[in-house]
Order: sequence, then C-alpha cells, then structure tokens
Amino acid sequence: MTTDKLITARRAEPWREALRKSRKNKERADIPRVKMNELDPEYRSHTRLEEVNLGLTKEQAMQEAQRCLDCPNPTCMQGCPVNINIPTFIKNIERGDFLEAAKTLKETSALPAVCGRVCPQEKQCESKCIHLKMGKEAVAIGYLERFAADYERESGNISVPEIAEKNGIKIAVVGSGPAGLSFAGDMAKRGYDVTVFEALHEIGGVLKYGIPEFRLPNKIVDVEIDGLRKMGVQFEKDCIVGKTISYDDLHADGFKGVFVASGAGLPNFMNIPGENFVGVMSSNEYLTRVNLMDAANPESDTPVLQGRTVAVIGGGNTAMDSVRTARRLGAERAMIVYRRSEEEMPARLEEVKHAKEEGVEFLTLHNPIEYIGDERGRVKQMRLQKMELGEPDASGRRRPVPIEGAIETIDVDEVIVSVGVSPNPLIPRAFGGLEVSKKGTIVVEEDNMRSALDDVYAGGDIVRGGATVILAMGDGRKAAAAMDADLRGKV
Ligand SMILES: Cc1cc2nc3c(=O)[nH]c(=O)nc-3n(C[C@H](O)[C@H](O)[C@H](O)COP(=O)(O)OP(=O)(O)OC[C@H]3O[C@@H](n4cnc5c(N)ncnc54)[C@H](O)[C@@H]3O)c2cc1C
Repeated sequence: MTTDKLITARRAEPWREALRKSRKNKERADIPRVKMNELDPEYRSHTRLEEVNLGLTKEQAMQEAQRCLDCPNPTCMQGCPVNINIPTFIKNIERGDFLEAAKTLKETSALPAVCGRVCPQEKQCESKCIHLKMGKEAVAIGYLERFAADYERESGNISVPEIAEKNGIKIAVVGSGPAGLSFAGDMAKRGYDVTVFEALHEIGGVLKYGIPEFRLPNKIVDVEIDGLRKMGVQFEKDCIVGKTISYDDLHADGFKGVFVASGAGLPNFMNIPGENFVGVMSSNEYLTRVNLMDAANPESDTPVLQGRTVAVIGGGNTAMDSVRTARRLGAERAMIVYRRSEEEMPARLEEVKHAKEEGVEFLTLHNPIEYIGDERGRVKQMRLQKMELGEPDASGRRRPVPIEGAIETIDVDEVIVSVGVSPNPLIPRAFGGLEVSKKGTIVVEEDNMRSALDDVYAGGDIVRGGATVILAMGDGRKAAAAMDADLRGKV
C-alpha cells in the first residue's frame, strides 16, 4: 500500500474518527505546548553523565497529543526525512496506546529514542506543523517521539519489526552511525543478510563518540542497536574497511552490495597562528576522548586537559556539546566564540538555550585571528576580531565582515575548535572508481544514493559533509530501497 493510502486507511479507523470527534479543533489548538521536564541548570552544569531532559509524564504526553489535529494532509510528514507516520503515532499516544505508538515509529525509523532527543525538529517535522500557520506553537513531535520510544523501552515490551523471509543475499555496511544503522534496519526487514563493519570499538558513530551522555545516554543508543541485532543485523567492530579488509575482500566474501556510511570525521581548523599550542584541540578529539576514552577521569591513561577558561570556536551542535562538556569538567568561564550572530547559529535551539542556562557566555560576532602561547608552548590568550553582518553569502546567511581595528585579547587556557568537519578520505581512496567531489564527499545520484561503482551506494555525512542524524537516516532508507530494487532486478 502507498504511504498516502496507508494514511487514509488509518485515519478512517473507527477509534481514530471517534477521537477526532471527541474535541473541536479550536479546543485542541488552544492547549498550550508542553514544556520538557529538565534537570536544574546549576546542578546539571556540574554533572556530566546525567541527562538534562527528563522526558514527559504519561499525562503530559497524552495532553500534548491532543494538540495534534490529525490533518487529512499531514504536512509534518513531509518534513521528516524518514517519513514517520506522525499523526498515527501521536493519536495512539492520545488514546493511551503507547506501545502501538512506538510500533508505528519503528515502521520507518531504526532509532526513534535517538531522534526524539537529537533531531532538529524545529527545522524538520515541527516546522511544517499546521499550528504554526494558526500563530500557535508547533505540536511537540520530538518530545512525543522520545516519550513513546522511552515508554516501550522502560516497559520491557520491545517490539521487533516484521522481517521478510531470509533471501540469503549478503550486504555490507561501512560505518555504524545513523546512516549505516538506518540502512541496515531497512535491509534486514527486507530479508537481507546484513553485516555492519565499524572501525571503532563501539557501535553508533557520532551518537557514541560525539554526542555527550547528558544529551544522549549510550544505553539508549545500545537498546536501539540491540533491536537491530534482534532483526538479524551483525556487527563487526574494530574493522577498518579499506585497511583491515578491502573492497575485493568484501566481494570474495560474497557481499553483493555495499553501503558506505563512513561519515565526516576529519576536523577542520582555521589555519591561524597558534593553533599548534598545547591546549588547542579539535572538538572531535575533545569529545571522542571524553565520551569514548574516559579522558575526563584524571586516573585514566590519557586524561584530557580540563581548562578553567575555555573558548569553543563555532556555533553548531558540536560546539554546544563541547562547551557544555567543558563547563561540566570544571571550566569557570566557558565561552562560545562565533563569527556571526545568534540568529545564524546552526545549533539546535534547545542546545543554545541549555548552554545559556548553564552559564555559557556567547561571544557572537567575534572571530579568532591568533592564539598566543606562554614560554612552555601552552595557549594563554586569543586575539579576536570583532565582526558585523554584511550581505547574505552562498549559504543564505548574512556574511560576517571584520570591523576594521576592532580587536580584543582574552585570556584562555583551553581552546576547542569546532568549525566543521570534512569527509574521511579512506573509502574514497580505497574503493577505486568512486566519483569524489572537491570537498572529498562521495558523489551519488540524489534519488537513490547510487555511486559511480555498480554495487556501492553511499549516504550520510560521507555524501553531505557534516549534516544531521535524520538526514543521514533518510539517506540510509533511500539507499536500501534502491539497492533492494536493483538486486531484485538482478536476481
Ligand atoms: C558532537 C556532535 C554533535 C552532533 N549533534 C547533532 C544533533 O544534535 N542533531 C543532529 O541531527 N545531528 C548532530 N550531529 C551530526 C550528526 O551526528 C551526523 O550528521 C551523523 O552522525 C552522520 O551520520 P553518519 O552515519 O553519516 O556518520 P557517523 O555518525 O559519523 O558514523 C560514521 C561511522 O563510520 C565509521 N567509519 C569511518 N570509516 C570507516 C571505515 N573505513 N571502516 C569502518 N568504519 C568506518 C566511523 O568510525 C563512524 O563510527 C552532531 C555531530 C557531532 C560531531
């Protein structure tokens, strides 16, 4: 059945019609948007492992679900790259059938508890909510997604999506981030024999090594990965495709299709004087060491520097995660230094709000031009160029322009550079015959994620550069549909 027909059929279910009639749209629209329960900012800015958002209670979730008007043409779904049947899962919450809500989420999303926590909903599904057109706040789709996924996990009644009969065809996935996981789930559902190869000793990609515990606990990611295991997906850790095993080895092992989801793990620097001083590092290094290598523990073999005055350069999610981590590791002054204004910041709105509540300072319209070190080669100051906004640039955001002569020097003892990432060059080099862009991304056909190599598809950050979890997952789904269709044509 097509998605449109499925929506119509579900909408017509008697319980759904009864629910719709139980309240007028105006009454539903007048209910104020729910507020997320959160840890106290002062308390949480000193605790690294406790999640900031606490989730909604059943009562809050059911009340928020009443705000959804169950639109005949649910535009929210157009804003979801993995096409979650949003009204259906929300209406199940409204009637108190939380497990059914979770099942609906899992039909199209391999990682609902993750997306409910980290998706930029305000730019995706919630940006298309009908409430915005009525001058109201969008339905809190992300909070409700998290609620349903958490409820299912905590209830212990974890559903496993239906799996087609095994077809014996082996498929390889390179990388276990959201793109790889989403692809693996969809292919397993279609009956393929899927193996995910991961270079690191942990499965999950950025979800594990990048996003901190206070925003996305590892145990939540692990439960979603276990769900994939139950669906038959196999994981090989500590295996670098292109080094440990080659493209030819995959063929020799009988893999008939490869999905490359190797991400963009190469940090960018600004190439300004002083970036080599001790105490200046990339956010990738900082967060990976803290999240995956126990480096916040002074007893560990490789403890990370824990600065007292820490500047984080950048305005994305990675910058917010770094600055909030620094605060939790004891920084008395933790600052975001960003060359544009707050309006242009790419970070999720919630992360900016949380960072401010936790005492992070925002030096917007400032750009570092030099770091100054002491006699031992440790960073001690940074020189900042003040900026103003000019005309919009290629990204559509107003270009930051230096204000002549407006330079400021600030004391720092740690600088974390978070100005974007580039694709990992290994796979583009190791798989001869791929088309690679100037930026190092793998070139694919947009509709189906096919690369220049017949049996290789790619998606997520290796194709987009640094993007988002949900876009990576959407790519995984698209690639799975296309590879399945191609393989069926071939069988
Ligand atoms: C700190 C941080 C915070 C973020 N916060 C958010 C957020 O709040 N919301 C959001 O939507 N997005 C966020 N993002 C962006 C988002 O996490 C990424 O866009 C997303 O993870 C990309 O998914 P992916 O599967 O393409 O790659 P990744 O998640 O990077 O996974 C790629 C995996 O491939 C593995 N790999 C690489 N090469 C090989 C190889 N040769 N062989 C085997 N394995 C290999 C890597 O080890 C890695 O595990 C954040 C990113 C960072 C760094």
